[in-house]
Amino acid sequence: MLVHDLHLDTQADDDIIWKHANNGIYSAATAYKAQFLGLTLSPMDFMIWKAWAPPKIKFFAWLAIQDRIWTADRLERRGWENCGLCPLCRTEGETSAHLFFKCRYTIRLWNSVILEFGLAHMDTSSWHLDGSVLEWWDKRTSLQNPDRRALASLTMLVSWTIWNERNARVF
Ligand SMILES: [Zn+2]
Repeated sequence: MLVHDLHLDTQADDDIIWKHANNGIYSAATAYKAQFLGLTLSPMDFMIWKAWAPPKIKFFAWLAIQDRIWTADRLERRGWENCGLCPLCRTEGETSAHLFFKCRYTIRLWNSVILEFGLAHMDTSSWHLDGSVLEWWDKRTSLQNPDRRALASLTMLVSWTIWNERNARVF
């Protein structure tokens, strides 16, 4: 234990050293920076980095949340060849929001996962109201959820499964 190496010198005055500044002197600016040294976590930390998943799936999620994966709408905007319709339902245009939480195929998969794991608090019926993947993902992993880390992992893994199924049908 570290305590064994600690010797109290009752004759010396106490010195307070602020370890976050090079000169050891406290300032508001260094205190502000210190908040980012592990004390404060961004929403992205909960949505992605703290979840249980392999790195490549976390990377996929990081792109998906920023709407940076190559769905048909994004390919179209670049003038690149694309599948147009969602390859899962073949009825609606493919956007990342459609693919990950609006497609009836996706909702059916989620409903079976919800039933399987007894996640009654997750209700897919209002998901169509969410405007973006970021908004939807954030709601699934926000503080109101009982087991945030598990749900973040589940959201990531189900979305990864959908993305792979989509790719298997496109290519
Ligand atoms: Zn679809």
